[in-house]
Amino acid sequence: MVNTDQTVSELTAIVGQHHIITDAAKSLRFRTGYRSGQGDALAVVFPGNLMEMWHVLEVLHKHDIIIIMQASNTSLTEGSVPTPGYDRPAVVVSGRRIQDLQLLNHGEQALAFPGTTLFTLENTLAKIDREPHSVIGSSTLGASVIGGINNNSGGALIQRGPAYTELALYAMIDENNELKLVNHLEIDLGETPEEMITNLQERRFDVDAVPKPQHHGSIPDHEKVVRDVDSEKPVRYNANPKQLYEVSGSSGHVAAFAVRLDTFPKDERSKVFYIGTNDPGVLETMRRDIMKTFKNLPVSGEYMHKEAYRMAKKYGKDSLIVIDKLGTALLPRMFALKAWGERFLSHIPFFKPYFPDRMLQALGHLFPNQLPPRLEEYYEKYDHYLQLKMAGDGIEEA
Ligand SMILES: Cc1cc2nc3c(=O)[nH]c(=O)nc-3n(C[C@H](O)[C@H](O)[C@H](O)COP(=O)(O)OP(=O)(O)OC[C@H]3O[C@@H](n4cnc5c(N)ncnc54)[C@H](O)[C@@H]3O)c2cc1C
Repeated sequence: MVNTDQTVSELTAIVGQHHIITDAAKSLRFRTGYRSGQGDALAVVFPGNLMEMWHVLEVLHKHDIIIIMQASNTSLTEGSVPTPGYDRPAVVVSGRRIQDLQLLNHGEQALAFPGTTLFTLENTLAKIDREPHSVIGSSTLGASVIGGINNNSGGALIQRGPAYTELALYAMIDENNELKLVNHLEIDLGETPEEMITNLQERRFDVDAVPKPQHHGSIPDHEKVVRDVDSEKPVRYNANPKQLYEVSGSSGHVAAFAVRLDTFPKDERSKVFYIGTNDPGVLETMRRDIMKTFKNLPVSGEYMHKEAYRMAKKYGKDSLIVIDKLGTALLPRMFALKAWGERFLSHIPFFKPYFPDRMLQALGHLFPNQLPPRLEEYYEKYDHYLQLKMAGDGIEEA
């Protein structure tokens, strides 16, 4: 029988009472998926550093509690929130306070921690003319690097493929039911979990002289796979065994403390082509032609149907205005405010669920149309759209 009071008091002793939520109403947004899914949790805990996270995991393992790892909770798979029907209590462990970032070997690679966002990584690398593996839509929502690795996210990325690394420091429960910390960062951090975590946290290694790793910090050979347009297999599908490697694709089945990733020289020039057609066959012909004959692969390609355009125009206008005018740095706080509003209003019968969302959408209508006239023209003319991002000489090829 799980001693829940004892568990909560041990967790509180580690993170402090301001960094644990046990009240169900207050924890709602950490127990509810971005698009769907909701479950119960004994608590949501926010460790402030890697050592606290390790001690939190030790307590949860000792008390046989289900561990749900969470970062920014923007993913669409329900993997970052509890599910109904567990046989024992669950605790959500949020890494969002552990937001550090470390460049290695003058920025050739980077170390990301549980709360490091794609946005921070992108901005830090921009200063040294490099870029991360993926610049994806979720970056604007405050998504984390580790969440992306866990999801193998980045389905639209043609050149480099989905987010992936074989280099990580992670905790797992082994076949003997023991909690272990595994160091596959290929950085010498010592033997015991405490040693490894302290050495990593305090950077007790030369960050600009880290030996070249034996394992990959991004997907190798992706170009060969995407160019094989005659293959029977789709280029990308969820849970592709080739992309499951320890933390990569694990959907929170292990607890990641840090991941080591490749970075890439920044493209000097890039351009997005917006292509419209009423015949999807045209897009198929284009895909085969580009993959077979272009010297430069597209950076990314994203398809959209007219109906999705129409919905995004109507229901995404408020988000577009906020991101465009205020930037993304404020988004997590705004989401917190919205969640607070929803919680507060849920006690008043007059207000329907999702009232703040509906209100923001209605307010969005007070603003003029935000979409460029040429996109609107395409909406009138065509049913299918492709956004094709090219870089360097690929621009002329396209
Ligand atoms: C197949 C797929 C393709 C996607 N492609 C795109 C795309 O092309 N463009 C785009 O914009 N978005 C894409 N997304 C969405 C994007 O992946 C998510 O929005 C984002 O990666 C989630 O980041 P997050 O910080 O919100 O993580 P969360 O939603 O908090 O967590 C995501 C997963 O990571 C686990 N996790 C979180 N922290 C840890 C940790 N410290 N240790 C272990 N596990 C942890 C969680 O348990 C969960 O399973 C895709 C998602 C999927 C599933």
